[in-house]
Amino acid sequence: MTTRQEALASGLRYYNGKPCKQGHTLRYTKNHICVQCAKDSTKTYFKEHREQVKEYMKTYLSTEEGRENQRRAYRNWYSKNRDKVCAAQRERYYRNKEKDNVKVV
Ligand SMILES: [Zn+2]
Repeated sequence: MTTRQEALASGLRYYNGKPCKQGHTLRYTKNHICVQCAKDSTKTYFKEHREQVKEYMKTYLSTEEGRENQRRAYRNWYSKNRDKVCAAQRERYYRNKEKDNVKVV
């Protein structure tokens, strides 16, 4: 169990606090909000407002700021998942190669 003070002191993003209404105990250090409930409510919001979110993203990504943020997020994601991306590309390459061979035969 990590208390909020310990989490703050060691710079952790989460800590184990009092159970929320749903009985989750993992909370964000910064704002005390339950991690799982925050995730669930985001998911519900996206599901219920799918069209608005899509429209919003379209508008947002047509701005320079939006594109820059998207690029940054992608670079960030890519640098963390580089190995996975490379492995997936390699696999796709070999799979296509096999397919081509089958075609040739
Ligand atoms: Zn919760």
